[in-house]
Formats: sequence, C-alpha cells, structure tokens
Amino acid sequence: MDYIPVNTPLIGDLEKEKLIECIESGWISSEGPQVSEFENNFSKLVNRTYGIAVSSGTAALDIAVAALSIGAGDEVILPTFSIISCSAAIVRAGAKPVLVDSRLDDWNMDVEAIESKISKKTKAIMVVHTYGLPVNINPIIELSKKYGIFIIEDAAEMHGQFYFNEPCGSFGDISTFSFYPNKHITTGEGGMIVCNNKSISDRCKSLRNLCFQKEQRFVHKELGWNYRITSLQASLGLAQITRLESNVQRKREIGMRYYQNLRKNKNLILQMTETKYSQNIYWVFGMILNENFDKDAKHVMVELNKLNIGTRPFFWPIHLQPVFMNKGWFKGERYSNSEIMAKRGFYVPSGLTLSNDQIDYVCEKISTILG
Ligand SMILES: *Cc1c(COP(=O)(O)O)cnc(C)c1O
Repeated sequence: MDYIPVNTPLIGDLEKEKLIECIESGWISSEGPQVSEFENNFSKLVNRTYGIAVSSGTAALDIAVAALSIGAGDEVILPTFSIISCSAAIVRAGAKPVLVDSRLDDWNMDVEAIESKISKKTKAIMVVHTYGLPVNINPIIELSKKYGIFIIEDAAEMHGQFYFNEPCGSFGDISTFSFYPNKHITTGEGGMIVCNNKSISDRCKSLRNLCFQKEQRFVHKELGWNYRITSLQASLGLAQITRLESNVQRKREIGMRYYQNLRKNKNLILQMTETKYSQNIYWVFGMILNENFDKDAKHVMVELNKLNIGTRPFFWPIHLQPVFMNKGWFKGERYSNSEIMAKRGFYVPSGLTLSNDQIDYVCEKISTILG
C-alpha cells in the first residue's frame, strides 16, 4: 500500500474555475469582491448576521479576544485540551487562561466543571468543539447569562455541524472558524469570525486591518493586525462552500467505517458516534489507547508509520505546555482525562480523498499492532 497521508484536501474543477476567474480579474488582494461574497455566503450558512474573513483560525481567535476588550486582569475559562491558538490569544491579550478538564466520552470540555472556575475576573468562556462533536452548550449559555460573561465559540472543526437544530458557530458572542486544509472546507489558509452585533463586527474588521482610521489613514488610535484574507483564498472558499454538505456526509461515512471496524477492540477508547444533540462529523478519526495497553500513542504511531500510515498526536494540554510551565503557571494543577488523551491519543488518515480500502487497511494494521 502506498503511503496514506493523514489528510489530503478535496479540490476540483470548480475551485480551478473560481481561481482563474479571480486571477483574470486582477483582484488578488483582500480588496476583491470575492471576500465579501465569501463572508456573506458563509455567515448565512451558520445563521449569523456578520462574517469577517481572516488569514487563519488562529487570527480569528486573536481578534475575537481583542474585540471583546479582554485584557490584563481578566480571566477566560477554556478546556486545557485544546490547540495552542486558544490559550495564545488569551495570553497575548494579557489575560489569564483558567482551565477545565475534558471528558473521555465526547472528548469535549467538562461543562459541569466550569461554574466552580468562575470568579469576579471571568470575562468569557471559550468553548472549543472538539474532533467532531459539539460541546453541550445550553448549560454554558445559562452560565453566561447568570454571570454576565461572554461566550467565544471556537468552531474551527465544526463546519456543517449542528447542536440540536442550530448550526455550530451560531452560539458565541463571537464564533470563529478555520479553513486550514484538514477542516471540512478549506481555503488553503484562512479563517472566519461570525457574530450578530454590528459594533463587534466593525471592531473585528478594524482589528483585521491594522486599525486604519477612516478619517485619516496611517493615524492609529489602537493596534491591530494584518490578518486580511486574499481574494484568491476567498475564491477557493466560495467553491468549497458548495461542497460542504457532501464533505460532511463523506466525513461521517469515513468516521463510521473506522468506528465499525474498531469498536470491538478493547484496547481503544473511541469518541461517541452521537450525543442527544448531535451526530459526530468526525473532523478527524481519533482514538485513545486504553490504560491496560502497555504502550503509549508514540509507539503505535511509529509502528503505523513503518506500515506507510500517517498519524498525528492529539492536542497537548495547556497546563503541560513548556511555554507556560516555564513561567510557573498551572503549578500543581492536574487534569487527568486531558493528560490521558494527550499521551494515549492519536488520529489516523481522515481526509476527504481517503478510500474505503485505505480505511480497512489502516484498521487491519491497527488491530495487528494492538492485538
Ligand atoms: C485548526 C484549529 C484552529 C486553528 O486554525 P488555523 O487556521 O490552523 O490557525 C483553532 N482551533 C481549533 C479547535 C482548531 O482545530
């Protein structure tokens, strides 16, 4: 079997057409009409009034935190099991990340652990929908009302996912997406902020574009970033949006095929296929080695690589990140589920171009390695 990479994006003729159209029009910067068209089309998909396209999902989180004026002295509650982008946005703003553990069944933040972490300093809860299933968000909305705190919703892995009947990305005061090539739709690099509030949207647009002023260009009252997206990327995005439904459907098929093949393996913990509010869209197909199994994820990943199978480890928890531990942060804090997930979790090829034969091959090899 040829090498099976962990992801290959699905890009076709429509993308080519849109890109050629964009190149021929000469509008290749962020000034082209494709950017606002992409923003409009995407924000409609997730029932939001405003969309602000940016250069990455990470950029979207930086802007989200800044747009809510979160800064020194503030705290933001988030799952320790998340990508560095989430904590980086909070830390760079001068605020403090306050952590909660995740669950071993849906792999999302433990919603019941949030309330005890709320303090007078809490400004926001950053919800990170993880690996295909949404966070149980209704109780978090209750908390946000009760304590008057914002919700930042990181929906980077959730294009096309719903919580009950509402799209993911429709719940935050600000919600963010990524269009990195391993997401359900891609623009190569890219991201999107969505919200319903005009002044928040204006602020995001300003922060994206260096906080240039209308009155006098090059005079700044605030610092922003150049987090603009190009029209070339937006053109890709416009084509990709038309694939969203079928991409999600295929991702579900891939996930369910892996699940059916592996569910009986006693050495594996798999993410729930569904919850009472959603059906897994399998951003990636991940697995956690049961603690009875005497080797960790690293070992299994090396073995799979020898068999031409690409893998990636799970997120590394925030409280174990050297960049924060070196500052003496999170000392003595333990989040046992997240630690298990980090050391014993990995994911296998999950891209949209994967064939069923490749999935079965991967499963066969996993079964051989794990017994
Ligand atoms: C991919 C991802 C991001 C970052 O997106 P980039 O576009 O790669 O910067 C942020 N949060 C989560 C949960 C992600 O999966």
